Amino acid sequence: MITTVALALFPLLAPTTPALEGGESSAAAELVRLGREDSRVAETLRELTREHPRRLTASKGLDEAFAWAAERFRELGLDPRLEPWGTYPAGFERGPAWGRVVYPDARPLEFITHSWTPGTDGPVRGLAVLEPEEEPEGDALARLVRGRWVVLRGEPVSGRRRRAFVDACEAHGALGILARGPESGLLVTGGSQDVDFAERRGMVRVTVLHDHHATLEQQLTGGARVQLEFDVDNHFTPGPIENVNLVCDLVGAEFPDQYVIVQAHLDGWDGAEGAQDNGTGVATTLEVARLFTEAGIRPRRTIRFVLYSGEEQGLYGSRGYVRDHADELERTSIVLNHDQGANYLRGIQATEAMYPTFERVFAPVADLDPARPFEVEPVDGITGGASDHAPFVEAGVPAFHWKQEWSGYTYVHHTQNDTYDEVDLDDVRHSVLVIALAAHGFAELDGLVDRREMRAPRPRRMGVFLSGTEVTGVSPDSRADAAGWRKGDVVLTVDGAEVGSRRELTRALQEGGPRKEIVLQRGEDRVETVLDYSDDPEEEVRQARRERLERLRREREAREAAGEGR
Ligand SMILES: [Zn+2]
Repeated sequence: MITTVALALFPLLAPTTPALEGGESSAAAELVRLGREDSRVAETLRELTREHPRRLTASKGLDEAFAWAAERFRELGLDPRLEPWGTYPAGFERGPAWGRVVYPDARPLEFITHSWTPGTDGPVRGLAVLEPEEEPEGDALARLVRGRWVVLRGEPVSGRRRRAFVDACEAHGALGILARGPESGLLVTGGSQDVDFAERRGMVRVTVLHDHHATLEQQLTGGARVQLEFDVDNHFTPGPIENVNLVCDLVGAEFPDQYVIVQAHLDGWDGAEGAQDNGTGVATTLEVARLFTEAGIRPRRTIRFVLYSGEEQGLYGSRGYVRDHADELERTSIVLNHDQGANYLRGIQATEAMYPTFERVFAPVADLDPARPFEVEPVDGITGGASDHAPFVEAGVPAFHWKQEWSGYTYVHHTQNDTYDEVDLDDVRHSVLVIALAAHGFAELDGLVDRREMRAPRPRRMGVFLSGTEVTGVSPDSRADAAGWRKGDVVLTVDGAEVGSRRELTRALQEGGPRKEIVLQRGEDRVETVLDYSDDPEEEVRQARRERLERLRREREAREAAGEGR
């Protein structure tokens, strides 16, 4: 087994080992110098977002973006390849779209359509009608909506009723449906690629900016005659459409068949430019490759750059990669996934087994910029998440999503605001340095990243269904059942500490010793109960790992307090 070999190779590293010595140091220093004095990442991001703003999976826009990215790698003297991973039933091309009120007051409407939804056949003008409060039957509904733009009411309506109404509008020949966007003013693009080619003709559905929609609804409620016009240039391409990932190796000098993967997804929702989801990840990946080749660095093991598609619909590209490269996963030391926008990279997690190595690899990162601190956070397990590192984690490969600030990301994430102009380029330039130093550090190690005990121990479970901290159901023969918990109980405290949310409750349950004293509110009464995990076979592992992790954290804090640590 290759894992065994890797563990045997794994070096004993003291956390105090100076991070960079001799040749290693000069290579890292050169990466930083180039990344600071001659950064091209902004240029790359601008080119990508200006020339290839629409990168929906299975679109021509994405094909062109892959060709562009492959050319960037070739310019560096590397040899990229496109690897097919699967098909989508149809392709989708989003062209320009505009809409307006023709009368009573001529004004433009800001809106979006979802991906893989129909457009109009040129400009289509018609009267608007407001969704009725009481739905008329059969013919009356047909007379109301045929040839009209149907404006859905802004107030919430049950999903099922809404869907039935929209379907009826389509069946009765409405021109299209106008839904109201959220109060935040964000227009979020989504959609499902799972379309039946035969049924792809249909009416256009648009989501209109909250305030524009509210004015329309007011006018219609007031009895105004409102005429609208939309021209939505959405087109389907008959499928199946083959999808690809781009894979490009900077081949290692000593361990060419061992990999450090630097990756991002090239696809994106096509409502704006995909600048931060995920143009920034693509740009940093390309720039890291450029720094290595420009500096003439040949790493000990292979640094593999991967750009995925199909991320936004469900991590399809990375799942395909993990499936098709199964024989290499044991030799894949680490996966560094960049996908959360422009905010600077502020840390990475590490298990106890990984921690000393990570401290050493990331030591030079700490000195890059005092305004952008970086921390290696000790955790008791590596978990996946909603990006392309997750399929690797599931397969047992150390794979990481950088810790990044979320602030400002909601404003751009899948919205009309995800444009180049919103990007903080200084943060992105900094991220390039972090990723380059990490890739270099991991590629130069004597062994692979230590993946022992990579998963957290199985958490303590109660055996209940919860809504917040309220018990909505108790599984028979569970610990909660044995402790006499009932449906309707509300959890107040765990070991004396108040818990205000489900998250706080499940977290408190994992802390401390195996005997949990839990107070419940039952009607007017307070009931004291105990959930005892002492007989849980997993408990010994949990305790031992928790204690070791706590010790690690205390040591780290002590070093920081002494001013000698990071
Ligand atoms: Zn993303």
